[in-house]
Amino acid sequence: MGCGACVPACPKGAVRLVDLVDQGIRPVTDSQLCEQCGRCVEVCPGVEISHGSFQEQTIPELRKSWGPILEMWEGYAGDPEIRFKGSSGGAATALALFCLENEDISGVLHTGTRAAAPLRNVPVLSKSREDLLAHTGSRYSPAAPCAKIDWIMGARSPVVFIGKPCDVVALRKSQAACPALEDKVCLAISIFCAGTPTTEGTNKILSALDVAPEQVEEFRYRGCGWPGMTTAKLTGGNSRMRQMSYEQSWGDILSKHGQTRCRLCPDSTGEFADISCGDPWYRQKEPGEQGWSLVLARTERGREIMHAAIEAGYIKLERVDSSVLPLSQEALLKRRRHLWGRLLTMHVMRIPAPCYNGFSLFDDWLRLPFGQKLRSLGGTFKRIITRGWRRPLKPAAGSEQLQDSGRSEQLVIDLDESEVKCKP
Ligand SMILES: Cc1cc2nc3c(=O)[nH]c(=O)nc-3n(C[C@H](O)[C@H](O)[C@H](O)COP(=O)(O)OP(=O)(O)OC[C@H]3O[C@@H](n4cnc5c(N)ncnc54)[C@H](O)[C@@H]3O)c2cc1C
Repeated sequence: MGCGACVPACPKGAVRLVDLVDQGIRPVTDSQLCEQCGRCVEVCPGVEISHGSFQEQTIPELRKSWGPILEMWEGYAGDPEIRFKGSSGGAATALALFCLENEDISGVLHTGTRAAAPLRNVPVLSKSREDLLAHTGSRYSPAAPCAKIDWIMGARSPVVFIGKPCDVVALRKSQAACPALEDKVCLAISIFCAGTPTTEGTNKILSALDVAPEQVEEFRYRGCGWPGMTTAKLTGGNSRMRQMSYEQSWGDILSKHGQTRCRLCPDSTGEFADISCGDPWYRQKEPGEQGWSLVLARTERGREIMHAAIEAGYIKLERVDSSVLPLSQEALLKRRRHLWGRLLTMHVMRIPAPCYNGFSLFDDWLRLPFGQKLRSLGGTFKRIITRGWRRPLKPAAGSEQLQDSGRSEQLVIDLDESEVKCKP
């Protein structure tokens, strides 16, 4: 899924990441170094995800389709700059800042960019309000924050983690595989996720803005307003900018460059996080309205931190009714309802499929209208045939094979410098 957790999990350092421009971030193993111990697979959120039993206090009517939720709130960061720069209401950043300034933590592991490569996402460890502010906002392109889980291991005190739902699953699996990591995560925050567009999506936005990648000094997909404009700030020092609306960038371009694996994901709202943050799209937004976040406390730890952050003024929240979540995230609910049929088609056609336990996917599928059930089965069948999923993978695909695969461009992610370099 491109989370990167397999990189620190490998005791031999045999895994590296490449960003296939039209596919997403993928791991590549060095067959000379790999001893097939399987630790990379153990932490992989793409292979298997299982829920345990849910606490009784979780909201009963939301459990089946949205996972465990203790409390649901709507609001925004108490710090106006964080609210403005944040993707929605800046809740994820505000909660992380509360921990940074009030808990004994070493930093916040999340996703950002470096000045030298403003279009490429890298894991970052934020240690101040300024660091956090610099990395607010959703980055609708591949990101692998788990590739630096070893920073958590090496940290003096616990760390806050922010990532997509798959990143959080990978974090939890890494904690289960390595007990020393268990107490080193102060809080896991997930953002909602409809699927990560490939790098090709970002390239298409730049073409539409008539901007070459090397002209870009800073790139924001949204934020600085709600949802804010997609903005490329150009080099040259005179603050030249090219912009397009969120509706154009997400609706017309990025949503057409989704990753196949994301279509098979059962968790769009961070069901394994302590706290999840998304957009409260259930109501019509007023013109010029400032950002709002929907915030879900999923664990006791999450609830405790959230209440403390409200008390201290880091975040301003009000309780909302449980109906707000399905009304806000209709697309995510729809995708989940299609999932059981998609997986069934894969099993029938003998395609390896991910294994999910405790998600009530069949119940969700039953709620899908009959015509859509048929479309879902037929669509998956067609995709399997036309995209050649039945062709066996070559064993131990190495970078050479990936380069031979005819893809036009491949980016090798250099994690030592925590930057992404383009390989000629
Ligand atoms: C690919 C993608 C799809 C999304 N789909 C939906 C959706 O369907 N519905 C919905 O309500 N919300 C969706 N979101 C989340 C939404 O855009 C906001 O990020 C969320 O509401 C949090 O807003 P905030 O103001 O609290 O976050 P902020 O305070 O702005 O913080 C955002 C945090 O997310 C981290 N982050 C940004 N991009 C990534 C990334 N690609 N991978 C990992 N971490 C990242 C940043 O490092 C930062 O810490 C999506 C986000 C992404 C990246």
